Amino acid sequence: MVKVNEHYARVGNNYLFSEVARRVREYKATRVGGRNVISLGIGDVTREIAPAVIAAIQEATLEMASPETMRGYPPEAGYDFLVNAILEHDFRARGVTLDADEIFISDGAKSDTGNIGDILGTDNLVAITDPAYPVYVDTNLMAGRQIELLPCLPENDFCPPFPARPADVIYLCCPNNPTGTTLSREQLKSWVDYAIEHRSLILFDAAYEAFVSGTDVPRSIYELEGAKRVAIEFRSFSKTAGFTGLRCAYTIVPRELVVAASTGETVSLNAMWRRHQSTKFNGTAYIIQRGAAAVYTPEGQRQTREIISYYMQNARIIKEGLERAGMTVHGGIHAPYLWVKTPAVLSSWEFFDLLLNEVQVVGTPGSGFGKAGEGFFRFTAFGKRAEVVEAVERVGSLF
Ligand SMILES: *Cc1c(COP(=O)(O)O)cnc(C)c1O
Repeated sequence: MVKVNEHYARVGNNYLFSEVARRVREYKATRVGGRNVISLGIGDVTREIAPAVIAAIQEATLEMASPETMRGYPPEAGYDFLVNAILEHDFRARGVTLDADEIFISDGAKSDTGNIGDILGTDNLVAITDPAYPVYVDTNLMAGRQIELLPCLPENDFCPPFPARPADVIYLCCPNNPTGTTLSREQLKSWVDYAIEHRSLILFDAAYEAFVSGTDVPRSIYELEGAKRVAIEFRSFSKTAGFTGLRCAYTIVPRELVVAASTGETVSLNAMWRRHQSTKFNGTAYIIQRGAAAVYTPEGQRQTREIISYYMQNARIIKEGLERAGMTVHGGIHAPYLWVKTPAVLSSWEFFDLLLNEVQVVGTPGSGFGKAGEGFFRFTAFGKRAEVVEAVERVGSLF
């Protein structure tokens, strides 16, 4: 008789965004002919994909039309042309040396941050920041692991406190979704030192590294001494270059990352992840990897940087506008997210309803990202400029 994975009962319904959509639908149905609703809620890009990427995808598509140049299954860990471009531009140029066999090209950081648990025991104690990208908590609940939440609040500068019990696995996301805040070099170094001391593993989500400006905030955990011994890093072309619909990401598993198994033998996480990917994954499409490689050409760099600076200009408009209205705004400097304290003593959902009903602006209730998100609200900078400007004016008119 079939048995289900009963741990799935521990995860709630995918409530947050469906509840947002339900309330917006209900509002629209009852206010026919009312003002348009502007959304600063979505965590998805809205700008077009860079022309250099589109050209590379078109060219690669045509290669598939001829028997001399067509490609079948791609190498499981990615084509050399993409891996080498990543090594050169994302790491060597910034003083980090990695080898080609430490990079694993994939179809998304969501699946990689979720699937990495396959190579880790279910008896690990997992520390996760609160609030957080929901994948971390949900996938660990599904696997039956114990979780300790690390509240990130203005009081601790959104830097997670060390867990009460030594954690075996630690998720860090910097720049952070949903708070839009970052960890300084010293703060991140203290986590690397913690992991070395406790022989823990850091799962570092750097999906928003391309939004970092200046050199104070590390773009890779490997910029810190010792990190190759304790950290796996996840990156994605989704927010960097608008690949949310194209799907391409990569994960770095350094060869130095070895773990003592219960037998006393040392086990290489790099070898285990390679085994995982070659068993459960059949590679990212050639056409899409060609598109990703084009991000690293001079035109690709110029075009994708222009799009990121457009989003970051939106972030500045939201931050300055809301602060002018007297609100307390966190994040938005190195990330396309703004984390706003709800005014008065409104809960996250009460503030959601107020904005929707009074000024027809939609954002995301902070409580949907974890208990420590209660009393906060997330705005994203991925909107169209005119709508962003109008939404900020509308919210400001409430105060
Ligand atoms: C968007 C996002 C990702 C990227 O996921 P993909 O599957 O590569 O699109 C990863 N982590 C966080 C925190 C994100 O917000």
